[in-house]
Amino acid sequence: MVDKKLPFTKEQIERIIEKYPTPFHIYDEKGIRENAKRLKKAFSWNDGFKEYFAVKATPNPYILKLLKEEGFGADCSSMAELILSEKVGIVGENIMFTSNETPEYEYVKAKQLGAIINLDDITHIDFVDKVCGLPELICFRYNPGPLKGGNAIIGKPEEAKYGFTKEQLFEGYKICKERGVKRFGLHTMVASNELDPEYFVDTVNMLLDVAHEITNEVGIKFEFINMGGGIGIPYRPEQNPVDLEYVGNKIKDLFDKKVKGTKLDPLKLYMENGRMITGPYGYLVTKAIHKKDIYKKYIGVDASMANLMRPGMYGAYHHITVLGKENEPKDMVYDVVGSLCENNDKFAIDRNLPEIERGDIIVIHDAGAHGHAMGFNYNGKLRSAELLLKEDGGVELIRRAETIDDLFATLDFSRL
Ligand SMILES: *Cc1c(COP(=O)(O)O)cnc(C)c1O
Repeated sequence: MVDKKLPFTKEQIERIIEKYPTPFHIYDEKGIRENAKRLKKAFSWNDGFKEYFAVKATPNPYILKLLKEEGFGADCSSMAELILSEKVGIVGENIMFTSNETPEYEYVKAKQLGAIINLDDITHIDFVDKVCGLPELICFRYNPGPLKGGNAIIGKPEEAKYGFTKEQLFEGYKICKERGVKRFGLHTMVASNELDPEYFVDTVNMLLDVAHEITNEVGIKFEFINMGGGIGIPYRPEQNPVDLEYVGNKIKDLFDKKVKGTKLDPLKLYMENGRMITGPYGYLVTKAIHKKDIYKKYIGVDASMANLMRPGMYGAYHHITVLGKENEPKDMVYDVVGSLCENNDKFAIDRNLPEIERGDIIVIHDAGAHGHAMGFNYNGKLRSAELLLKEDGGVELIRRAETIDDLFATLDFSRL
């Protein structure tokens, strides 16, 4: 069970709305920082442990800056994400560049920044060598295929487009060693939104076994393994968060057993979570603008799937709080809907909620990752502002809302 409480009061939000109209995303700095510290602490036994925040989850420079201050790096997979990291001063090996189907210019940029380049395919060894020369440090993404069970969001590894097969890993490291690469890492990313702590322990176990085999056969020394991201969050109140201390301790046991005193020693452990870093600490704040009673009861809000597409796209559950009505009986059943001309533009279906009136402020929980980031402009919907609720209780605008002019900026009306 997780307590879906809010880091702000109704009065606070009403004051914020006077300045920044709904809909907007608001992030809780205190929550993000405390959580970041907890993750680091759970793995502090590993000398060199680092979390590379998956920028795609919340690509806002102010969020990245805050995470940089907590000692995090950035996991990037595109030009824009590389530039965003650079602007925040996250450069060099504080960037992990894990891309796929990568164009030349992105490898050039990643190499210029001194990022750790994590190849997704064996043919990219030649590709990078030609485009910009192989870097001194190289990492490969491992796709274990049928050797590892699947997970709902990423799916079965053997159906996933990512990574090297096990055979290709051996071949790839051999080639890189022959071409003078000096430093090596091994990466995998096989799950997303996974709540079972054992899954992560198993992943590290698998990586350590493969790292041993490669070390023995190819004769290289690994500097790090990157176990990927994918730690889930309890979107539903009845779910439990992943126990980070438990996962940290279990993985420490594995390192004691399989790393200490072996050819792998010393070995740094990296992670690249997105969702669990910011997800629970971001909220989409919207207003009820319409009530409709036909075959079902509908509450229309001023946000839409363009602000948060997870419910419409995956049927994902996002908890909803009606501000000021937290303690009222949830004796109504509503579909809470946005205004897109798409019937899947629904934040909730058949949800038990207190009676809602026009003007009520509705908070959609766990929108801090893959929320604003997945926003789009269908139906001419404008992307909303992002606000940061600071530790001192103040509010900072960290991205303004789009305007109609922004939306039309790529059109030339003068030739009509
Ligand atoms: C999306 C992604 C992540 C982060 O995944 P979460 O589920 O948000 O933790 C990490 N690494 C790679 C390569 C990704 O594509």
